Amino acid sequence: MIFDILTLLPEVCKAYLKASILGRAQKAGHIQVRLTNIRDFAFDRHRTVDDAPYGGGNGMVMKVEPLVAALESLPGKPRPRIVLMAPQGRPFSQQMAAELAGLERLVIICGRYEGIDERVRKLAVDQEISLGDFVLSGGELPALAVVDAVSRLIPGVLGGECSAAADSFSDGILEHPHYTRPPEFRGLTVPEVLTSGNHAAIERWRRKESLRRTLRKRPELLNTAPLSAEDHKLLAEIRGEMD
Ligand code: SAH
Repeated sequence: MIFDILTLLPEVCKAYLKASILGRAQKAGHIQVRLTNIRDFAFDRHRTVDDAPYGGGNGMVMKVEPLVAALESLPGKPRPRIVLMAPQGRPFSQQMAAELAGLERLVIICGRYEGIDERVRKLAVDQEISLGDFVLSGGELPALAVVDAVSRLIPGVLGGECSAAADSFSDGILEHPHYTRPPEFRGLTVPEVLTSGNHAAIERWRRKESLRRTLRKRPELLNTAPLSAEDHKLLAEIRGEMD
């Protein structure tokens, strides 16, 4: 999958993209991430990318021409999905990440200042995505979050093919707790079942703990998660243990 990030601050994206899983995924050719500096498409001597808002008021607005020129500089085929990172967009979710992971190309526009000239939305944007109900100074962190979450779902990107499938939200509920060595730390031990070698018992324990955590931390997820008859039995057990 090919990602294009359009930003005024390509430098801030580089280090994150180079590190760890995303760095390896690019080296292995599972994903390609291209950074385009919108300022390279400014057309005046001062390379202006922002201007005062019509109607007055505080802050600056990202100009339409450099952004559209930057978009038009990208290869047209295969036709990319063009998303704008914006607090007014739909809140990002694992489900959206899974949908985007099916695309061949994704173009992500990062805003700065007060945001972009509204005409960019009209001319080019297919979808607006928000990282959550808060306002950041720019779209770079949200864009990196999207690239990261989507890439993890592309076959080959994670070492163990299964690790994304077990992650929180992938099957609608939260993931179970994890433990690694040592077996005891400051009096805290590891649940015995995990060292039992009994794989069926471990799987059952993990599923139950996933359900327990979801019930405790995000009970509303249980209304929409696809639950089996066995899950309902486990939930009844958990509720019994809570009484
Ligand atoms: N004035 C705008 C906010 C501008 S913040 C408003 O009230 O809606 C500057 C840029 O940061 C935005 O253009 C957007 O690209 C990015 N940004 C800020 N918060 C974000 C969020 N929660 N999700 C996605 N992008 C965000």
